[in-house]
Amino acid sequence: MTEPSRLIVLAGPTAVGKGTVAADVRRRHPEVWLSVSATTRAPRPGEVNGVHYWFVSDDEFDAMVAQGELLEWAVVHKAARYGTPRGPVDAALTAGQPAMLEIDLQGARQVRENMPEAVLVFLKPPSWDELVRRLVGRGTESEAERERRLETARAELAAESEFDVTIVNHEVHAAAEQLVALMVGPVSNRSD
Ligand code: 5GP
Repeated sequence: MTEPSRLIVLAGPTAVGKGTVAADVRRRHPEVWLSVSATTRAPRPGEVNGVHYWFVSDDEFDAMVAQGELLEWAVVHKAARYGTPRGPVDAALTAGQPAMLEIDLQGARQVRENMPEAVLVFLKPPSWDELVRRLVGRGTESEAERERRLETARAELAAESEFDVTIVNHEVHAAAEQLVALMVGPVSNRSD
């Protein structure tokens, strides 16, 4: 019997490296389908519409919510809205492709409600100091924005126990491989 393809939700604190790990999966594992989120935030240099995000206006986002097009959505860092278009996720799973979402904690909780069969993965920094170093080191945010993100990160770190699996992000490639293994193999430290 063929196993149904699995939905993996990658979440974790701000600046833990979720995006980098997801990019590594995208590069090395074309068989894995990665969701492209819609967001109301402005593109950063180098970000491409439809590849990194769908960059939409507030009105467009409102319409997606009203029409029930989003599997989950949240306001992240009190700054912008982000959401997962539901149709493409369903299509990937129906086509038998392993699928992955890289979203924040609030979104992960909604996926747990809407799709209980999804596997929730918590990407954890090797230490709090390392998380702060990565957050400050990225240098793309203002001081106020960094403080906001640290505050969010503290709350997010405390949520680890809600997740099915924890992966410690010591090294990007190793973390990505552990993630991909979950899509095809058994999930060993699930609580149920
Ligand atoms: P950034 O603006 O740095 O690209 O992303 C900020 C945060 O938004 C990250 O923690 C990322 O995981 C989260 N995020 C990206 N897409 C989605 C989404 O579709 N839904 C939710 N809930 N969070 C998202």
